[in-house]
Amino acid sequence: MLLTISTTYQPATDLGYLLHKNPARLQSIEVAGGQAHVFYPEATAERCTAALLLDLDPVGLVRGKGGASGEGFALEQYVNDRPYVASSFLSAALSKAYGTAMNGTCKDKPDLPAQTLPLAVKVAVVSAPGPDWPRRLFEPLGYEVEIETTPLDPTVPEWGDSRYYTLHLRHEGLRLQDVLTHLYVLLPVLDNDKHYYIGEHEAEKLLHRGGDWLPQHPERGFITRRYLRYLAAYVNPTLERLMEGDEINDPANETSPPDPLSRREGAPAMPDAESSGSPSPRERGPGGEVNAEGDQRLSLHDQRLQQVAHEIYQLAPKRVLDLGCGEGKLLRLLLRQPKIEYILGMDVSHQALARAAQRLHLDEMPPRQRTRIDLIQGSLLYRDERLAGFDVAALVEVIEHLDENRLAALEAVVFGQARPAHVFVTSPNADYNQLFEKLNAGEFRHDDHRFEWSRAEFAAWAAGVAERHGYQLRLESMGEEVEGVGAPSQMAVFGV
Ligand code: SAH
Repeated sequence: MLLTISTTYQPATDLGYLLHKNPARLQSIEVAGGQAHVFYPEATAERCTAALLLDLDPVGLVRGKGGASGEGFALEQYVNDRPYVASSFLSAALSKAYGTAMNGTCKDKPDLPAQTLPLAVKVAVVSAPGPDWPRRLFEPLGYEVEIETTPLDPTVPEWGDSRYYTLHLRHEGLRLQDVLTHLYVLLPVLDNDKHYYIGEHEAEKLLHRGGDWLPQHPERGFITRRYLRYLAAYVNPTLERLMEGDEINDPANETSPPDPLSRREGAPAMPDAESSGSPSPRERGPGGEVNAEGDQRLSLHDQRLQQVAHEIYQLAPKRVLDLGCGEGKLLRLLLRQPKIEYILGMDVSHQALARAAQRLHLDEMPPRQRTRIDLIQGSLLYRDERLAGFDVAALVEVIEHLDENRLAALEAVVFGQARPAHVFVTSPNADYNQLFEKLNAGEFRHDDHRFEWSRAEFAAWAAGVAERHGYQLRLESMGEEVEGVGAPSQMAVFGV
């Protein structure tokens, strides 16, 4: 793959100083996956072009850490577009070959990096999700964007164009440092191939490079989502799993609440970033906490439940309510705490309760254990004497299943009448939704959600409840925090 940068800044050969590469010499550099060669097809005072030719070794890519994960057809790891398409490998090569320029340093002409230059960039080739994407990514940064399409097969025009393009970018005046940084960050975003490993350090640098301009970019959501996905695949497999957009609003998930993120139990594991071959089935322990390989990564929902169970445990309660208990995942964790004398699970859904009874094996439970738990059908919108006399109540991912205008009724039932000493309420954090690739703006994570609140909305609601009913309030984030958007879920802990 070939990347050329041209300028007509006078003298144009200053480009050589900026790039720290002498126009008179061909230079070859070892880079991740192969070799980069830098040379100047033209170098006159009027116009200068620096070319970076990246020569990736297709067989080398398969070996060691640079390898493909090989999830596709048998020969995919040998027959693929990696050596030819601008991707994270080109970014890694850019940072190795032009790192000094990217940092804005120029030994011989220290003032030059601050100079804006007319620049033209050509990248052959990029693969993009659609022909409009190069424009959406580069135009907001002031580039004039042109893409050259290529027919899939010139002899069969009805097959249309391939998804590979030659990209031309032009800018009237920009610092070279900025151009390099834009390419460095955005080329892998266009490519979005997450099956190739260039190293955690490189991935972090990529994010860091966007710091100045990304926050203002209109497609920042798309860019960060792709990045986080990409980064997540290698750095944080839990995040990768959470970001599996396929699970969102997938009709196949409709029957089993609570939310799509919880439905990984029994599902195959995500392949590890560096593993090859097909994913191996993952076995979860009863709480979903440790799999057969001793892997302690949890689904978001399991994390949520464990966090709530842990907090409840710390309060050493005797009687605990699980309101909107669903299929009984929290109940199962609570049953494991022997000091809890009695647990009551309530749900409006008969089906959910039947499933909970089955999963908890209520009918086979030893009699003493059996007296510790009951499941009842009931609605949180109606006053219910059975909910009185408890130390703690949990509502894990329940409130967003009710219409917002019914929350006052729920509030009266839980905080006004049942009045346990502590109440835990969790709900999705809508600020985080932009990280879910398949979730369009305004869409919810689950079809049955009636609303999803931002952190500010949740905090405002919780503060109102606490004030109206005389509870102290503590707000917690649940799951890993991402700068700017918070954690996937949020929790309010009320205590009298
Ligand atoms: N707390 C469980 C389930 C969350 S899904 C868990 O974390 O796994 C939301 C649950 O709230 C569903 O089981 C749904 O049936 C229940 N629910 C919805 N409206 C309700 C209401 N008015 N009263 C009681 N439960 C309700």
